[in-house]
Amino acid sequence: MAVALPGAGASQEQNPPLPPPRPDRPAPPEKPDGKSPVRESAEQNATDAGDPAAACIERLTKLGLRFEKRPPVQENACRIGNPVSVSALPTGIEVSPASLMECSFAEGLVRWVNEVVIPRTGEHFQSAPTKLLIGTSYQCRDQRSGAKLSEHAFGNSVDVMGFEFDKRPPLTVRVQPEGSPEAAFQSAVQKEACAIFSTVLGPGADDDHDDHLHLDMRVRKADYRICQ
Ligand SMILES: [Zn+2]
Repeated sequence: MAVALPGAGASQEQNPPLPPPRPDRPAPPEKPDGKSPVRESAEQNATDAGDPAAACIERLTKLGLRFEKRPPVQENACRIGNPVSVSALPTGIEVSPASLMECSFAEGLVRWVNEVVIPRTGEHFQSAPTKLLIGTSYQCRDQRSGAKLSEHAFGNSVDVMGFEFDKRPPLTVRVQPEGSPEAAFQSAVQKEACAIFSTVLGPGADDDHDDHLHLDMRVRKADYRICQ
């Protein structure tokens, strides 16, 4: 009827129905009510204090690495408690192939590249590194001496075989011609790695390390380091 129609229309305008929930949209924002920031900071504290593994992952995310978190590795006596597969470092330097390592080791690798490899590449080659060529990362095996498990067995080590750059040919780790910029670069990145890693072995150390830089974070008494 003519009377009923305007009435129904008016009623709808005064009490518009709530819009249906939109599954394609996130839940209504929580921030305006002040609850969300409080909850976030509580989670943050719990992460830092009670869950060092999660805190490490969070730091890698903030650093801007390209990585995937992986489930813990346990293979006989070999293990990685908080493994990540790293495919690129913060400035976009590729890790090739993507390498499995303990989260805390990945942080060390970032430090070495940022504090040592990038500046030395600029100094000796007027260039920038674009790729880190990795031989072995995680591998369940003994040390070459055979005495104990290698740090590779704990995801606490990588073997760097070479580097690629934006403005010059790749560099393969080996005994470099004496007095060359390659020798100066390689010697610097090897020597300065000792401030970050507890074991650094490279060409000249022994026959096993003639073609790569072995970097690891083995924990020893009194912070003893091996740097050869
Ligand atoms: Zn090694």
